[in-house]
Amino acid sequence: MRAYGKFFEVRLDAEPRTLLCTVKGSVRRERRRTDLVAVGDRVWATDVGEGEGQIEAVAPRTSVLARLARQTEDVEQVILANPDQALFLFAAREPAPHRRMLDRFLILAEATGLPALIGINKIDLDAPAPGEPADGRRLSEAVFGDYQAVYDVHRVSAATGEGLAGLRAALAGKVTAVAGPSGVGKSSLLNALHPEGDRDIGDVSSATGKGRHTTTSTRLYRIADEPPTYVADTPGIRALAMIGIPPEDLDRHFPELWPYLGRCFYHDCTHVHEPGCAVREAVQEGAIPIARYESYAALRRGDTDE
Ligand code: GDP
Ligand code: ZN
Repeated sequence: MRAYGKFFEVRLDAEPRTLLCTVKGSVRRERRRTDLVAVGDRVWATDVGEGEGQIEAVAPRTSVLARLARQTEDVEQVILANPDQALFLFAAREPAPHRRMLDRFLILAEATGLPALIGINKIDLDAPAPGEPADGRRLSEAVFGDYQAVYDVHRVSAATGEGLAGLRAALAGKVTAVAGPSGVGKSSLLNALHPEGDRDIGDVSSATGKGRHTTTSTRLYRIADEPPTYVADTPGIRALAMIGIPPEDLDRHFPELWPYLGRCFYHDCTHVHEPGCAVREAVQEGAIPIARYESYAALRRGDTDE
């Protein structure tokens, strides 16, 4: 559920109880190129009493969110083991939605092969966009409307509970990595999703006084038992987005561009300035949302404005 230096908080499958575990030496020798144990790993542990345990084995990971270490000899740094999907959370306002950050998150999800959900919190504050008539489109629609054709978009309010049932249904039975800029209400939302009884799980370290030093800020919460459902607070994703993605691969990470890839006059078309570009034609015809294309083009040119 959480890592503290050499200690790992392990939640038992059968009981709502955690053990603060160390890792057996034999496990340590087998796993050299990756984090030994990471938040999200499924492990076998022995209970040695007094709330402590020892990790004996780690199950193979089915997926991983990690700092890419492909071209280096470094050990990869795992942000979350075994994620099933990602939820990128923004607010309808306060703070204003940050499209470019969302686009970066989505690229990361595409590159990692993780299905992405988009959450728009604070819809209780959602009013028509500036310049729209009083009964016009809400700000969240003006900003996020483009994404609904491709991604599952959830409008929620951690404050009023609106939309939470639908979001819960989308999370059920899965491990979901949650990320977003600060202030959008991520903590409020995780609390709202989290059943009261489980909320204090995770405070083993303060009870034993061990390992107050956290090596990763990722933290997993079990939000339902039937089916077992987890959400992970993964602040580390923000630094990760876009690292290690070659510019020539960028177009593959925009699903809206897929139907046009391979149809340009130049096979190595960047879709930024070349004649005979099928992508830019589709943008002109309105088949690809302009804002999403502009996001692609800015990233492709290497603009680092935001
Ligand atoms: P975090 O930085 O993303 O973890 O955001 P917090 O959960 O700390 O929330 C930031 C601020 O937004 C706090 O003042 C919350 O009370 C407020 N907030 C969170 N969710 C909502 C919401 O759904 N509606 C409104 N109006 N305010 C919210
Ligand atoms: Zn092109």
